Amino acid sequence: MSLDQYLNGRLDERRRASLYRARRELGSAQGASVRLGADWLLNFCSNDYLGLANHPQLREAFVAAAARFGVGSGASHLVCGHGEAHHQLELALAAFTGRPRALLFSTGYMANLGTISALLSRKDALLQDKLNHASLIDAGQLSGADLLRFKHNDLTHLQARLTESSATRKLIAVDGVFSMDGDLAPLSALAALAKAHDAWLMVDDAHGFGVLGQCGAGTAEHCGLHGSEVPILMGTLGKALGCFGAFVAGSEALIEALIQFARPYIYTTALPPAVAAASLAALRIVQQEPERRAHLHSLVAHFRALASAAELPIGASTTPIQPLLVGDDARALELSQWLLGQGIWVSAIRPPTVPKGTARLRITLSAAHSLSDVERLVERLAAGCKQLQVTL
Ligand SMILES: *Cc1c(COP(=O)(O)O)cnc(C)c1O
Repeated sequence: MSLDQYLNGRLDERRRASLYRARRELGSAQGASVRLGADWLLNFCSNDYLGLANHPQLREAFVAAAARFGVGSGASHLVCGHGEAHHQLELALAAFTGRPRALLFSTGYMANLGTISALLSRKDALLQDKLNHASLIDAGQLSGADLLRFKHNDLTHLQARLTESSATRKLIAVDGVFSMDGDLAPLSALAALAKAHDAWLMVDDAHGFGVLGQCGAGTAEHCGLHGSEVPILMGTLGKALGCFGAFVAGSEALIEALIQFARPYIYTTALPPAVAAASLAALRIVQQEPERRAHLHSLVAHFRALASAAELPIGASTTPIQPLLVGDDARALELSQWLLGQGIWVSAIRPPTVPKGTARLRITLSAAHSLSDVERLVERLAAGCKQLQVTL
C-alpha cells in the first residue's frame, strides 16, 4: 500500500465519523469580533480571555523589543538565545506567582513534556486526571513512568491509585481549570492527598493563569495555595496573556533541574525576545487592571443566568469556558455551522479531544465581549438548539 493510499483510508474513516477537522483562515486580529472571509463574526472560541492579544501596549512592547533585539533569538537558552527580555519576564513571573524562580518554555505543550520527563522516569508513577490536557498525557508517555489515570476530580479513586502504587516517586498532575469543561480541580484536597501520600503536585494552569484569583495568579491563588502545596506550577502565555509561550514556576532546585534535564527546554530555539517583552507588558496589565477580570466574571455570570433561563444544556463551570453539551458529533458540528450562518463563531469539540458521546460547543468568554454580545449569543444558541432539537 502506498503512503497516500494508507493515509486516504484513515482520512475517509475520520470524515465518515464526523470527526474531520478543518482550519479556517482568520483575516483579522483576535477580538470580540473577527473576520472570516467577507464576514465579521462574534468570536466565542478564543482563549484570549482578557482581550489582550491585540492590545496596543502589547503591540508597542513587541515592536520596541523587535527594534532592539531583532526577531529571531538565534539559539537555545543554553547556547546564546537567553536574552534580557526573557530574563526580565522570568523574574516577573516568579514574583507574580510567589515562587522563587520561573523558567520560560516555548509552548505549554513543551513545558509539560519537559517538566514531567525531567522529573520522572521508569519505575516512577504519574497520576493524572482522566480529563487532563493532551500535552500532560503525552508528557507521561515520554517520561516512561507508570501511567495511572483517575476518574475526573475523583479523590477517592486517586487515593486508591496512590495506595496501590509501590513507586517511590509519585507525581500527581492536573489541569487547574479543565480545558474542555471549565471546571476546577479540587486543588486544596489534592494538595492534602499529595502530602499524605508523599507525592508531588503539578498544576497545569493554562486556563486559570491571568483569569482566577484576586491578583489573577490563577487556580492556586484562587484556592489559597502556596509553593509548598503546589510545588510545580505551569502557566501559559498564549491564552489570558494574549501572547505566546509558557513557564514553570517553583523552587530553585526545580528550575535548575529543568534547565539541566528538560529536553524540550534544552534542544529548542528560545522564544523571540519580542514575544517575551510583549508577555511582560501583558503581565503588567493583568496586575494593574483587575477590572478586566471583574468584567469577565460578570460576563460569565450573565451568560449562565441567561442560558439557564433558556434551559440550555450548559455545564457546572464558573470560568470563562462554558461547554454546551450536545452529545452527538454530527449534531455538534451542525449547530456550530448553523451559528456561523448567524454571525457567531463557536467551535464544536469532538472526540478524541473529549470523551465519546460528549461532543459539545466550547463557548469561551473574553473581557473583550460586552453584555449585549453575550445576550446575542444566548438568544442565537436557544434558537439553534430549538431548530436542531438539542435539549437538556
Ligand atoms: C493550551 C494548553 C496547553 C498548551 O499550551 P500551548 O502554549 O498552547 O502549547 C497545555 N495545557 C492546557 C490545559 C492547555 O489548555
